[in-house]
Amino acid sequence: MSGNGQQKKEAGNKVPDNKAPDSKAPDSKAPKRQKVIALKPKERMKIPRHLPNEQDPTERITNFCEVSNGFDIDKAIAEANRCLECNDPVCMHACPVNVDIPAFIQLLYQGDYAGAIRKIRESNYLPAICGRVCPQENLCENSCIVGKKLEPLAIGKMERFLADYEARSGTFTPPPLAESKGQSVAVVGSGPGGLTVAAELAQMGYDVTIFEALHEAGGVLKYGIPEFRLPKQIVDEEVERVKALGVKIETNVIIGRTLTIDELLGEMGFGAVYIGTGAGSPRFLNVPGENLSGVYSASELLTRVNLMKAYKFPEFDTPMQIGNKVVVLGGGDVAMDAVRTSKRLGPEQTLLLYRRSREEMPARIEEVHHAEEEGIEFHFLTSPVAIHGDENGWVKAIECQKMELGEPDEKGRRRPIPIEGSSFIIETDTVVVAIGQSPNPIIQQTTPGLETTKWGTIVVDDDCATSRPGIFAGGDISRGGATVIQAVADGKRASRSIDAYLAKLREELVPGTAKNHSKQE
Ligand code: FAD
Ligand code: SF4
Repeated sequence: MSGNGQQKKEAGNKVPDNKAPDSKAPDSKAPKRQKVIALKPKERMKIPRHLPNEQDPTERITNFCEVSNGFDIDKAIAEANRCLECNDPVCMHACPVNVDIPAFIQLLYQGDYAGAIRKIRESNYLPAICGRVCPQENLCENSCIVGKKLEPLAIGKMERFLADYEARSGTFTPPPLAESKGQSVAVVGSGPGGLTVAAELAQMGYDVTIFEALHEAGGVLKYGIPEFRLPKQIVDEEVERVKALGVKIETNVIIGRTLTIDELLGEMGFGAVYIGTGAGSPRFLNVPGENLSGVYSASELLTRVNLMKAYKFPEFDTPMQIGNKVVVLGGGDVAMDAVRTSKRLGPEQTLLLYRRSREEMPARIEEVHHAEEEGIEFHFLTSPVAIHGDENGWVKAIECQKMELGEPDEKGRRRPIPIEGSSFIIETDTVVVAIGQSPNPIIQQTTPGLETTKWGTIVVDDDCATSRPGIFAGGDISRGGATVIQAVADGKRASRSIDAYLAKLREELVPGTAKNHSKQE
């Protein structure tokens, strides 16, 4: 295990004196963009949105291969043709990391694929992942001006095309690294937040080590999101690109058990720590029968299948007993992944029960659509009240109650209210609980002075600083369950705060060195 944080790093790909890139905040005084797309705006507005090729639903429920094949070059360029090259690119402001969307689309249109992906990586180091799993329909694509009249540009699909093209053509070159600062940072957790903060700090010249509890890096991207939405090879390739910046990854290290945060900051010599440990503990319903055999949390089901390859049992030695009928409880992305994963394990019937109506479902529209195509049966306004077992302690049925919608709750979603006397029974062999995730408390319990909320998340300020100097946090551990791109955005914000914090320490040690502070907002 590496720990000598003060050692200077000599990364092979280092290009001294080049400033690392930074994400750009929207700038209203920026010069007007030159238009490069040949078609007149009216003609562009006539082109319908392009759709990627997808595996046929009847075929794909028999395998774990990716559902969407993405765009080929022709479709990607044809889609780029639809961009209006707006002077005020609202799509860019709606992206949590402000990817310069019009700029990368123009480069794509001009056939400069390497330039286009470089442009994206300046703001987001994980484009192959975000192009696939970002909820674009609520972010960049939701603000696209074309979408006011037609379907918005397929921004995520173009981003994915460029990332995949770069991977297939082997054209990735690591961005330049700043001169070594001679200081080191420990990152706890290798999810999208941890990978981003590591990539950003490495580019600024810090020596970064990621500590990961599991045996593989990637966090939820690896153990949660299924292969058919985000192939593990794609995650591995992005992890390799982070390592290409000189970042070290130590797997099988549980911070809070193997080492404490105070040991990292003390005898291990790290100047700062970033906690990006996510929200990996499943929440349960607290209804009778939840401890019966055949009841799984979505985390267990997805981890067994994704990380332990249970769908390849006995080639891989993790079994997954699923029965003939599976009932999944929940309405978010996790529930959708659990139910579609269950379907692929071969039961005769796969049902999803959600206590609100379809309109309130938090899952991505695209995934709900895919689930329907795959024959998942949706039962809305249905809530479980008990799980019944047989004489051997195995699930045999779930008792449910019908609901109706009342007044909106604090998040604006209409509250489900039970309808008296509406109970009914659904027979089933397997129940999967997918109603949300909570943070694992291990670091909070072993780090004195680290302020937490009543939900167990770590309290941070706008700069991702915690109550303890030198300790920063972001992503799901401070937000509760959020999104990949929010974890990425936190990683970027935290990297700037860590840089400022370490610059101050340098200045205290050797006055005059703070000018070496890498990035400014
Ligand atoms: P994580 O990705 O949770 O990574 C945390 C890492 O820290 C893990 O690898 C964990 O093993 C490690 N760790 C934990 N404790 C320790 C410790 N003590 N010591 C060392 N390492 C530790 N978001 C989207 O945007 N789009 C989607 O389609 C989507 N689908 C999802 C599907 C599922 C099934 C799930 C569970 C989540 C989904 N999300 C989705 C949410 C998204 O994945 C998370 O918001 C995001 O991964 C959070 O990133 P993170 O870096 O904060 O943490
Ligand atoms: Fe859109 Fe996500 Fe890409 Fe930002 S990172 S442009 S939100 S797909």
